[in-house]
Amino acid sequence: MIDFHCHLDLYPEPEREIEAAGKAGIYVLSVTTTPKAWRHTSRLANGQKRIRTALGLHPLPDARYVGEIGLDGGGDAARQADQSHVFRTILKMVDTAGGRIMTIHSRRAVDSVLDDLSRHPAAGIPILHWFSGTIEQLNRAIALGCWFSVGPAMLRGKKGRLLAAAMPTDRVLTETDGPFAHRGHEPLRPADSWVAVQDLGTIWSLPAHEAKERLLANLKKLGASIATPDAERVDLRSDT
Ligand code: MN
Repeated sequence: MIDFHCHLDLYPEPEREIEAAGKAGIYVLSVTTTPKAWRHTSRLANGQKRIRTALGLHPLPDARYVGEIGLDGGGDAARQADQSHVFRTILKMVDTAGGRIMTIHSRRAVDSVLDDLSRHPAAGIPILHWFSGTIEQLNRAIALGCWFSVGPAMLRGKKGRLLAAAMPTDRVLTETDGPFAHRGHEPLRPADSWVAVQDLGTIWSLPAHEAKERLLANLKKLGASIATPDAERVDLRSDT
């Protein structure tokens, strides 16, 4: 199973979540929300071969994944301008570094995010997490080469399911966005990505185990698409 957007460091007991995800054999992209948290969060996942940590900001040579980056449409004009400046700077740096896998936030700012991405086609692979735009915006994102990560909270609503159904099946991954995303009062955890696998199975008219195979094939393809610093190589051979 895959949880391609989860904030492991923000659970009350990160070590417990990491251990549980490790035991369950889940591939987790652990996304830090600040650059400061990157070193500590990477260290937490030491020895866990399926957990990778995405850097909140600078694409250092040994960080293969970059996130959480992007724009959020809430807030005033000054905040928007700051966000745009930071996002463009990161895209430029990622571009210079030879491309990275990026998990991107685009809530209420899809057009601006896509405008910026279109100016940096060599920045690597943009994965729009929890996409909430229109079908037209989705089609534009697809044309720009974007991937998508979808989770149980997104797939609970009709709009989210319609969007997921319109995504190319070979560019979709699952996520939870835990602990921000919830089910009832409980924060979602990496193992809950299984709910998204089942929902995608329904959308794709596939049994859940075949949907899971397809998602793992997507992850493998993603891994092969970007040059890998050795330390970040994910071992896909012994998947359970
Ligand atoms: Mn997030």
